[in-house]
Amino acid sequence: MLGMMMHRPLMISDILTYAAEAHPTAEIVSVRTEGDLHRQTYPETLARVSQLAHALQGHGIRLGDRVATLAWNGYRHFELYYAISGIGAVCHTINPRLSAEQLIYIVNHAEDKLLFVDTTFVPILEAVKDHLPKDLIYVVMTDRDHMPENSLDALCYEELLTGQPESFDWPMLDENTASGLCYTSGTTGNPKGALYSHRSTVLHALLVTSVLGSTLPEGAGVLPVVPLFHVNAWGLPYTAPLLGLNMIMPGGALDGPSLYKLMDGEKVHSAWGVPTVWMGLLAEIKAQGRKPEGFADVVVGGSAAPRSMIEAFEKMDVSVGHAWGMTEMSPIGTHGNMPNWVKQLPFDQMIDKKAQQGRRVFGVELKIVDDHGNRQPHDGKAIGELYVRGNTIVSGYFNNAEASEKAIDAEGWFGTGDIASIDSNGFLSIQDRSKDLIKSGGEWISSIDLENAAMSHPAIANCAAIAMPHPKWDERPVLIAVPAGDDRPALEDMHDHMSEHFAKWQLPDDLIWVDELPLTATGKTSKLTLRQQFADYKLPDLR
Ligand code: AMP
Repeated sequence: MLGMMMHRPLMISDILTYAAEAHPTAEIVSVRTEGDLHRQTYPETLARVSQLAHALQGHGIRLGDRVATLAWNGYRHFELYYAISGIGAVCHTINPRLSAEQLIYIVNHAEDKLLFVDTTFVPILEAVKDHLPKDLIYVVMTDRDHMPENSLDALCYEELLTGQPESFDWPMLDENTASGLCYTSGTTGNPKGALYSHRSTVLHALLVTSVLGSTLPEGAGVLPVVPLFHVNAWGLPYTAPLLGLNMIMPGGALDGPSLYKLMDGEKVHSAWGVPTVWMGLLAEIKAQGRKPEGFADVVVGGSAAPRSMIEAFEKMDVSVGHAWGMTEMSPIGTHGNMPNWVKQLPFDQMIDKKAQQGRRVFGVELKIVDDHGNRQPHDGKAIGELYVRGNTIVSGYFNNAEASEKAIDAEGWFGTGDIASIDSNGFLSIQDRSKDLIKSGGEWISSIDLENAAMSHPAIANCAAIAMPHPKWDERPVLIAVPAGDDRPALEDMHDHMSEHFAKWQLPDDLIWVDELPLTATGKTSKLTLRQQFADYKLPDLR
């Protein structure tokens, strides 16, 4: 027998219409590329989102069309999130830190129809526009007075909105309709697209709200340093309106002093981002001799939060929530919102618990398996590859049958590529990554891509790119190479050779010559052995 309850589709547009009604005074505060601080409430935002939705339809955007953004965190980017998915199109957020090659790949792969760009990133597009679809329409996210000279024939964002009606009859779509697209970089070259739906996005917001609601009181200020171009800023553009939070958007000013000033001025309660950004903020707090006013909570994720960082925040009464997740998981899988028994532990033991990646969010199941796929116990000792399952996790990749096939195991679980243990209280500990990606400043660098590019140099016979620890960037790539002959090009020469395929920050920090690379039993380079060999190595800027 079935229950007799209404079935209403879960729609992203409902989040904003709810916020406009239930939290009419909460604000989105944005550091703008125009140089000032801009404020607007959720009702004002809904009116502008409606105008934008009309404008998108006026430009021929229909159900399922991809509309791209290349932008900082700000109210216009937030408006695009809601207007694009609200009309049934797909909001494709692009990471401006991608190499030109990757950017060209994903815009073409996604078949974007419109591309909205912040003034800052116009030159990036100008440099690659000949390789982007010819009929792509560009829109610069500013007003007429601030439109930059450009060769894109770009439209002006504010002019698109002018004169459009301030309300919109949001369609009730199938809740499985695609709403957002975010590409993740893989080990083997081309980025892969995680395609979110209305249902997965609304559920993610509700599930995260169920864990974090108690730490984020209505009317509090929350600051996403995590970008809207990387996994939907960990879902904050959806959770913040639900909870009636003020969203404080930092734009491009992400250095410690700028963040401090903004947080202090807006009395930010909770700030979210990767460990790297908090290093800068902690240095500024030290210089100022006090934390920003109102600062009480920080969510750290994207890579492991160092224990010393957690300790530094907790000592100034800023509670650390250590979260783990992936682009493919919308992204939050676990969160370090602590049960009472942990809060009562002695300080050092409490920090130890916070250095783990917390417990799973309801709706996300976790399993760890050995090399043969056998489940391992959750006893805190057994280590295995971490698999996840749930309504907020991808079932495959956008237009990529090969990658989709590999992503899901026979029981329907998604393989994360992370190596982890889980204890009997449900706490996750990420031990390592099974793949050898290098994570610098919260962004991935593919070691295989680096190796392929380096190997195309005639002086190099074989090479391996491995991650070396760095206090600011977490990790930086180093190239270990076997020469083909007597010629040993300098690091700068290798950069010149490789720069065509990579953004500057992705290039290796050092080049080390060796006679041979260690091999595994199956004849592959053993990076594990390499890491052991270079355990005492220090990067050039740390010597
Ligand atoms: P991305 O899809 O770029 O967000 O990267 C996801 C990957 O980042 C995960 O598979 C982990 O390897 C890593 N990661 C994310 N959060 C954490 C964390 N709290 N601790 C350790 N690694 C993390």
